[in-house]
Amino acid sequence: MSVSPLPPLPSPCDLTQGGRTLLRSLSRTGVGLHSGQTTQVSLHPAPPGHGRRLQRQDLPGTPPLHLSPDRVQPSALCTQVVQGEVCAQTVEHLLAALGARGLTDVLIELDGPEVPLLDGSARDWVEAIDEAGVSERVSPDSGPAPLPEPIWIYEGDAFVAAIPAPHLQFSYGIDFSAPAIGQQWQTWTPQREDFDQEIAPARTFGLAHEVESLRSRGLIRGGSLDNALVCDGEHWLNPPLRFANEPVRHKILDLVGDLSLLGPIPVAHILAYKASHRLHVRLAQCLRSRGYA
Ligand SMILES: [Zn+2]
Repeated sequence: MSVSPLPPLPSPCDLTQGGRTLLRSLSRTGVGLHSGQTTQVSLHPAPPGHGRRLQRQDLPGTPPLHLSPDRVQPSALCTQVVQGEVCAQTVEHLLAALGARGLTDVLIELDGPEVPLLDGSARDWVEAIDEAGVSERVSPDSGPAPLPEPIWIYEGDAFVAAIPAPHLQFSYGIDFSAPAIGQQWQTWTPQREDFDQEIAPARTFGLAHEVESLRSRGLIRGGSLDNALVCDGEHWLNPPLRFANEPVRHKILDLVGDLSLLGPIPVAHILAYKASHRLHVRLAQCLRSRGYA
């Protein structure tokens, strides 16, 4: 009789729970995707109930930004939190990593307008968080109630939805005319599949012909072949990919980050097709209006 080895346990994924903080502070420095500015982010432990607040250190005296769905300004290309004159761009990959580790009480200091892109994924954030250490959960039952009924939001042929389900699950579909990307679908079940292995390493991606027009509009000044996968339609300009379907996995990463604006994410099957940060955030806002935040 042979006994097959047990599969390795996934790293703890706390998207539906929260209630944790860091054991120690940590910092990372890098270039912002849109601003092209080099900035430093420092994450600090915070007391229970503090939430996630972001302080712009280069704007002394300004109030901290609450990272909440209600503070997000629509943008197709990144998630931007705005409060009065103060903003912080491209918070989504950092938020995905915080969510995956259940870190809902954190003080974030940022010395410029945008969170650095690092390698274009959430891998460096997860590693940095694990190096600093994560506290025990304050309250064991801090997760939100399961979703009682479906929510759909659609725009043209794109949609996001949250369907009642026994555990948290994400399914995402994309459809690009560029053959290098084409149609991709991926389902990710946090309970079963490791965030660190399956989702965190997937990088930002783009099309070469869009790069010039975005640059001329003052966007993606910090984008490069070092921090984004770029394709010319037929081919990737900077292979190898980390996954055959790295783009759709990155879309799941973005969706996780945007829903992490709620703090803990309600147990549901979250479904998205050809969606954008704007639609992800609309779903987060809708969930918040129903008491999920
Ligand atoms: Zn992204």
